[in-house]
Amino acid sequence: MAQFNICVLKGDGIGPEIVDEAIKALDKVGEKYGHTFVYDEQLIGGAAIDEYGVPLPDVTLKAAKASDSVLLGAVGGPKWDTLEPATLRPERGLLGIRKELNLFANLRPAKVWGPLAESCPLKPERLGTGLDLVVCRELTGDVYFGRKWRDEEGVGHDDMNYSVAEVERIARVAFDMAMKRSKKVTSVDKANVLETSRVWRETVKRIAAEYPEVEVDYFYVDNTAMQLVLNPSQFDVILTGNLFGDILSDEASCITGSVGMLPSASLSDTTLGMYEPIHGSAPDIAGRNIANPIATILSAAMMLRYSFGLAQEADAIEKAVETALEQGYRTGDIAKANEERISCSQMGDIIANLI
Ligand code: NAD
Repeated sequence: MAQFNICVLKGDGIGPEIVDEAIKALDKVGEKYGHTFVYDEQLIGGAAIDEYGVPLPDVTLKAAKASDSVLLGAVGGPKWDTLEPATLRPERGLLGIRKELNLFANLRPAKVWGPLAESCPLKPERLGTGLDLVVCRELTGDVYFGRKWRDEEGVGHDDMNYSVAEVERIARVAFDMAMKRSKKVTSVDKANVLETSRVWRETVKRIAAEYPEVEVDYFYVDNTAMQLVLNPSQFDVILTGNLFGDILSDEASCITGSVGMLPSASLSDTTLGMYEPIHGSAPDIAGRNIANPIATILSAAMMLRYSFGLAQEADAIEKAVETALEQGYRTGDIAKANEERISCSQMGDIIANLI
């Protein structure tokens, strides 16, 4: 019996609708397994801009830092996306909270769920034994955080850099995860061209030696992009830097064919993490109770697994999602033309009842 304090940031658009369904699943887990989840709801993104004039108010940051973990919906929408200065736009709230909470490891599982295999845009023979991988992306370094400047000739520069310490800590996250999965890591870089990547590869090789049971491959990023569509089932944990991870995780997720199904976790070097669906705030369908809440529900499962150490409870949520899909329940985004569609809240109720 334990109590966990969750900072809830519903955000904008469909954020409030999908987060409510994840809370239903958490409450059901609490009831069944005897845990108490306490929610502290705060504003972020456009909702925070409307209330406080900034996308990440101090009160939100303070609550996030004081919590055991953060559950986020999504931020953004046409009302705020063109605000000037750009520091006042909703996504700055996200970048700010990632930085402030030191969330250096971004985990994005990409899985083709059996009952949804037809949504995969690849030919069945390409899918092989299926797609079930995790992209483990470094999130606070690389060219995104290097010095940015224009010289006297107007040439733009973005400094790309990685320290050994930064690579070591993300490599350990990937290898620890591989130990809990199928003991296979593919480290992705561009070591034939980039010095940063040579530091990356040397460091990953050194950390790999601490995990003799894990099989490691070293791929160049261009080859990885091709292999993901040619033979995706060869991958399990993909370990990579911020820039390459940004692109490869989007590629991996589109292979699954359903953006509304994909969760993510951003981890720090403590147990405090932030959990959110990979999709945005979907303003085109907001307020209609038709969004797919599964990505957010699965994000809550990741929170149980990675921040609270509740693997059995996380398994229970994932199994409930699988059963709901097997029983044929579909929101609009994953339904075929002739299939009946259920609402966001109905999907949340069904999953909670199956836990
Ligand atoms: P989006 O992911 O919000 O939507 C893309 C398409 O997918 C839309 O057609 C949408 O209806 C659909 N979709 C997304 N999630 C869905 C779900 N759960 N169920 C059913 N359909 C779903 O991307 P976008 O349209 O490019 O961006 C919309 C807003 O979201 C923008 O303001 C953008 O800046 C923001 N955004 C936020 C995040 C985040 O908060 N992490 C990420 C990406 C985009």
